Amino acid sequence: MDPISTILDYYPALVIDGALATELERRGCDLKDDLWSARVLLEQPEVIRQVHLDYFKAGADCAITASYQATVEGFQRRGLNEKESIDLIQTSVHLALAARDEFWSETTNRTGRARPFVAASVGPYGAFLADGSEYRGNYAMSEKDLMDFHRPRMRALVEAGADMLACETIPSLIEARAIAALLREFPSISAWLSFSARDEKHISEGQLLVDCVKELESHTQIAAIGVNCTSPKYIPGLIGNTKQATEKPVLVYPNSGESYDAEKNAWNGDRVLSSFGEHAREWYRAGARLIGGCCRTTPEDIQVIASWARNDLLMERT
Ligand SMILES: [Zn+2]
Repeated sequence: MDPISTILDYYPALVIDGALATELERRGCDLKDDLWSARVLLEQPEVIRQVHLDYFKAGADCAITASYQATVEGFQRRGLNEKESIDLIQTSVHLALAARDEFWSETTNRTGRARPFVAASVGPYGAFLADGSEYRGNYAMSEKDLMDFHRPRMRALVEAGADMLACETIPSLIEARAIAALLREFPSISAWLSFSARDEKHISEGQLLVDCVKELESHTQIAAIGVNCTSPKYIPGLIGNTKQATEKPVLVYPNSGESYDAEKNAWNGDRVLSSFGEHAREWYRAGARLIGGCCRTTPEDIQVIASWARNDLLMERT
């Protein structure tokens, strides 16, 4: 069974973690780099382990690894050889697994919750380009080229022992197709597939979300479908569009509503929601079953979601 159904069999909602990069910056890591949080993998792996641990303590049922922007091609450009690049990608999984095992080894941490799992991040090709194109798509790449790009990292993440894959911030249908096709080469692993969206109906490149979800619906390795790194204001509509086309659990982990400036490598504007976590109940009512936060969200936000999911929501249900 995939780790998502294992938890959703017992709990009405599954809590995803929040932003990794934001939290690393808050702890003094310098992410002004094309490799983004992947750079910290090289230089300060211990801080990554600590952030994962803090999200588990906040109530997250899963950790998304620091491999979003970690790719063999990206690391090779920085002078690492292929083996070193693969080792570093696998380090992202080992750090999250170590944090999970440390968390779970304390009996007091186990009360009233499921054993958390590790979802290895498969960021889009656009994240490797580091020019903001994960929010635009239009890469001018064939499905085969995209499969070739994603293959070495996906293999490394699976072999490192990740519980599942988090294929996230996918801006285009062609990239979703490439990832779905590639998953069949690794039949032992399940994955969630999560798009970035430009409004209530369309993913970033412009295709209708409902059409994208329809295409993925029959793929047995895809355990959940949804949207991440998108403004919370579009989330209720996007959940409705996803639900129209799937029986799979729907996931959402929006960003805080600020917009990303790839040139400056910075986030602009204000948080759309004063209390991010308070909106989890609205997203649940709209039909989402996996709920967390993406860029600019914090362990405090996740704590609000977890407290609702493991207290109020459970009470409502009984
Ligand atoms: Zn994000």
